[in-house]
Order: sequence, then structure tokens, then C-alpha cells
Amino acid sequence: MSDDIEKSIGCSSCESGTCSSCSSSSCDANEKRPGESDQQFEDRQAVKRRLNRIKHKIVVMSGKGGVGKSTVAVNMAVSLALSGKKVGLMDVDIHGPSVPTMLNLENSVLQSSADGILPISVGELKVMSIGFMLKDSSSAVIWRGPMKMGAIQQFIKDVDWGDLDYLIIDSPPGTGDEPLSVCQIIEDLDGAVIVTTPQKVAITDVEKSISFCRQLDLHVLGIVENMNGFVCPECGSITHMFKEGGGKKLAEQYKINFLGSIPLDPAIGTACDNGTPFVHKYAKSETAKIFEKVIDPILELSLVK
Ligand code: ADP
Repeated sequence: MSDDIEKSIGCSSCESGTCSSCSSSSCDANEKRPGESDQQFEDRQAVKRRLNRIKHKIVVMSGKGGVGKSTVAVNMAVSLALSGKKVGLMDVDIHGPSVPTMLNLENSVLQSSADGILPISVGELKVMSIGFMLKDSSSAVIWRGPMKMGAIQQFIKDVDWGDLDYLIIDSPPGTGDEPLSVCQIIEDLDGAVIVTTPQKVAITDVEKSISFCRQLDLHVLGIVENMNGFVCPECGSITHMFKEGGGKKLAEQYKINFLGSIPLDPAIGTACDNGTPFVHKYAKSETAKIFEKVIDPILELSLVK
């Protein structure tokens, strides 16, 4: 196989997670990069060995907080797990981890195996969050950029994720240290899902997220518009409170996939607060069907890798 072809499909020798002994000329795991210390080199190799066992890595981002990014990340991960995939959910929202609450894992205690920290299992879903390491849910994490980067690296390097089809990464809002660290540490990210709401202020921030992805050469898998309309709990009809279609127009403008519009559904809010994944508890609802459509392009990834 030519080096060029091998580069485009990745290093075949690494697929079994044996990258440290890989002899492929296109695999840089055995070579120190310019300026890299021994420790940094070892850490990068360790990260690479873990990542080689994970087929697809997807980061869920948003321009603003409160638009439903964690809700989408959690329900996307649960939907994928319900469809029979092996899924990991990594919550790197260091300052505001909400995944433990959304999955009713607030009192979970991390255990270790000989191969690292064991993520918390919810059925077929494996979950890791900074929230599992805090004394209580109201503790604040006051960290600067390098510490956050170190923590995110540890979430991969020191966690025994095992073999996964998907790793969904719930990143904090904006274009700061955490999403940047994720992109730097996980060099073979499949892409980003960007979550927004229909209002103009949120849409403007999404443009920043798109620009961030383009600058880092990260593929945008699609845009999800959340809270577009309100589902009446009595009759199920949808009332639109905001001008419709902001996310869709933006997707067209930037030639990005539009993955769907999720309405504001009181059942989603209740499910998140109770720690019961919405797509599981309300699997037959119209809103859950929309979530299923949102993950379609993500499932298609498994056909191309
Ligand atoms: P973010 O991660 O963007 O900060 P969250 O996912 O934590 O936002 O959502 C913020 C709040 O909004 C949560 O309480 C969540 O339950 C609620 N929420 C998110 N999306 C919806 C929706 N479509 N319908 C009802 N409530 C929602």
C-alpha cells in the first residue's frame, strides 16, 4: 500500500491498538514531534492507543449556553446505544457538567481496573464526566486552560473506554479552551454537531462555532436547531414562538447538513431533571422520532469507516 493511500485511510497496523509497536511509515506514534518532551510523547502514544479502539469520535458544540447542547449530546448517545452501538459519552463541560444529572448518575463513584478508570455504565452506554470527581454538584472548578487540557487528555488516556463504535463528546459552549483541547488531543475527530436555538443572538454565535471548526479543519456533521416551537402537553400541537428556520437558513448559507428542529417539549425538561433519557422514556413521541432523524447522518458514518 502506498504511503499516500495509507495516510488517507489511517494506519492499518494501529487498528488493534498496537500503535506503540507500529512499524508503518505513515504512523507518527513512534516518532517524537519537534519540541515534544518525553512525557508529552508518551502521553500522545497512550491517547492514540485508546483512540484506536474507538471507531467514531464526535464533538457536540454550541455557540451559547442553555441552547440544549447537553440534552442533544445525551439523547444522541442514548439513541445510538439503543440502536445497538457501543457508545461512550465524555462530558468535558468542566465548569458546568450536566450529564450526571441528566442520566441520574450524581451519586456514582468511579472505580478502576488494571487498565484505568472505569467509566460509569448505563446499559450499553459508558459515561465519564468531571462531575463524578467533584465533592458535590455545587462545587466550582476554577482551572486555567492548561489544567483543562490535562484533564481532557486524562479522560482519554486514563479511562478504560474499551472498544467503542462512537465516542460522543459534550463540550462546553463557545470556542474556548475545552473544544480547542478536544480538537488537539483527538486528532482523528469525525466532526462536530452544532446545536443552536432559532433566535438571531444564538445564530450569530453559531457562525463563530462554524468559523472555529473551519479554522481547525474540523468537519461540521450538521446543525441541530433546538427549542423551535412549543409542544402542547395536552394536544401535542406545536406553537412557534421564534421566527422559524434560522438554523436551517444558516445551514444552507454555509452548505452544512441541517439535522433537524427539536421543539421545546416539557417532557424533555422533566426527563432531563429526573435523569431519565427522553428518547428512552418517550420513545414513541414525535419529538423522539425527530431525535432519531438527527442521528441518521451519525449512523451513516459507520458505513464509511
Ligand atoms: P446547554 O448544554 O446548551 O447549556 P442543556 O442541554 O443543559 O443546555 O439544556 C438547558 C435546559 O433546557 C435543561 O434543563 C434541559 O432540560 C432544557 N431543554 C433543552 N432542550 C429542551 C427542549 N427541546 N425542550 C424542553 N426542555 C429542553
